[in-house]
Amino acid sequence: MAIQENIKQILNDLPQEVTLVAVSKTKPVEDLQVAYDAGQRDFGENKIQEMCDKQLVLPKDIQWHMIGNVQRNKVKYMAEFVYLIHGVDSLRLLKEIDKQAARFDRVINCLLQMDIAQEETKTGLDAEELTSILSDEVLQLPNVKVIGLMGMATFTDDQQQIRKEFSTLKNTFDDLKKQHTDLTVLSMGMSGDYPIAIEEGSTMIRVGSAIFGGRN
Ligand SMILES: *Cc1c(COP(=O)(O)O)cnc(C)c1O
Repeated sequence: MAIQENIKQILNDLPQEVTLVAVSKTKPVEDLQVAYDAGQRDFGENKIQEMCDKQLVLPKDIQWHMIGNVQRNKVKYMAEFVYLIHGVDSLRLLKEIDKQAARFDRVINCLLQMDIAQEETKTGLDAEELTSILSDEVLQLPNVKVIGLMGMATFTDDQQQIRKEFSTLKNTFDDLKKQHTDLTVLSMGMSGDYPIAIEEGSTMIRVGSAIFGGRN
């Protein structure tokens, strides 16, 4: 099977400390099952409804990563099972995650998304906003834990540009870590740019098309 081969190949070149999240958005559960049978346990989706539908029918030891934009009114649907929310970009969202996690007596791990790309379309926080969001107020939310940062580089062929953006994210991560020792995860790198991301210090890559093939 191509999916198995793709995973094997990616893992082969991956440093041990880097986690592979298989991004399975738009793909049928049969494809996820093939990846699961090959040993993959971390899966990423960008729509809450789709993730919930898949979670219902797939093995329970899968770790589900929400990598897309999160609408506050939908947090409740994934609060019972989501493993890591990558794209957190506001205090209001963190507070909602905290509230919903409490209903299930869970602590939900989150990453703050930093805006590192040139494009206007990418969302996220700047360094100043990251510092302020990691305030006492957030640290005191009992049911959320911010464990790192996430970012997406500009969609471009310019490798130097991509490297520069990942390097900015890594430097910010290292800076914040001095104050906040809970920050251990740096989620950066996709199919097109994960080798650069790893060179620049990524600990978690989110790879879709290089595993499952292109999306429509
Ligand atoms: C779709 C997506 C990915 C994976 O993209 P590929 O190019 O298919 O590897 C990674 N991160 C986010 C946030 C995504 O939305």
